[in-house]
Amino acid sequence: MGTIHKTGCVLCAQNCGLEIEVENNRIVKVRGDKTNAKSEGYICRKGLNIAYHQHNADRLKYPLKKVGDKFERISWDQAIDEIAAKLKSIIDQHGPRSFAYMGGGGQGCHFEAAFGVRLMRLLGSQYQYSALAQEFSGAFWVCGRTHGKQYLHDQPDVNNTDLLLIFGWNGMQSHQIPQAPRRLQRLSKDKDKLLIVVDPRVSETAKLADIHLQIRPGSDALLLKAMISIILKEGWQNKDYLANRTSGFDSIKSYFENFDARAAVKTCELDFDQVREVARLYATRKSSLRYDLGLFMGRHSGLNSYLIVILQSICGRLCVPGGNVINGHMMPFGPHTDERDSKIWRTTATHSFPVCGSFPPNVMPEEILSDHPDRLRAVIVTQSNPLRSYADTTAYENAFRRLDLLVTGEVAMTETA
Ligand code: SF4
Repeated sequence: MGTIHKTGCVLCAQNCGLEIEVENNRIVKVRGDKTNAKSEGYICRKGLNIAYHQHNADRLKYPLKKVGDKFERISWDQAIDEIAAKLKSIIDQHGPRSFAYMGGGGQGCHFEAAFGVRLMRLLGSQYQYSALAQEFSGAFWVCGRTHGKQYLHDQPDVNNTDLLLIFGWNGMQSHQIPQAPRRLQRLSKDKDKLLIVVDPRVSETAKLADIHLQIRPGSDALLLKAMISIILKEGWQNKDYLANRTSGFDSIKSYFENFDARAAVKTCELDFDQVREVARLYATRKSSLRYDLGLFMGRHSGLNSYLIVILQSICGRLCVPGGNVINGHMMPFGPHTDERDSKIWRTTATHSFPVCGSFPPNVMPEEILSDHPDRLRAVIVTQSNPLRSYADTTAYENAFRRLDLLVTGEVAMTETA
């Protein structure tokens, strides 16, 4: 029998509590930590297999320095001293705009992003690039305009809701809320609660649904607009909430009046009566919404997010028990970086701006390969593999070869490392 240690899984943003048994400095057993308030003993198979990553033969345990075409093992002191000296020299010569940190947002890299961002700020740079700027830009930008801060992103109050309406999310596979499969199964089995899934595919989550709207791919914005229009036409909106908890609705109301919801629903390849019933249920019950990458990374990403806020607002389902709640500031979400603020940087080559602190990774190669005197010259990458993750591997290869300094922090050798 080894010793039991409590820790957390870092393989996704849920950070489930783990109890690991350690014998001879090796993890021999993993189980969910029932005392963890968030995960309550839940653990998925990734968490169960953390020993695979911890003790893998390919695990990198020491700093490696590229010398010619080969890597040489060096000490931690040498690595830190050399990186610090090189960074200082680059920034002294070219200024803080020459440095970017890439990390935070990918699976498993939420924790060290706190240190990466702190280093970036200490060096005077604002350039954080992360996957969040690929996935959530539209949603965060809309939060900034509607909720006041880009990081005020809402989540369904799943424990207290009696109807969960899902857009573009297959929680049975992808989590994104604590104990997602467990909670979805509970909702599905509860006769007093409803699970409604909008998904073009009969996903694992759709299979549990009471109602599955098998929407035509890419037509979510039309469906959302149709639902809003139906709710307003039928008078199902929460007038008290609209009057006392929102502002500006009158100035956008006309977008939803005289809208041909039937034609829109037909384009979505859905049944109008069923959509009308879903709209009624959402508007009249203690409902919440879960929307995810299917909306954010599909067509009309920002518009989808905006229409979601309108739907939540007219039904009074935002910041209420059982509706969608805002958890406050969460790692790895960044700060509010409104592009209208003159203090917020834009990149030199593509004039891109950050949303929630993150610049879009797909512009980084151009920012390095540019001839602008303020181009990027030094990049630290942690726990992400841009050569595999982002849009143009060749562009990244060419760009990274041009850098004066590229440092990667990784558990194993990757294409980027
Ligand atoms: S859901 Fe799975 S991968 Fe995510 S933190 Fe929990 S155990 Fe780890």
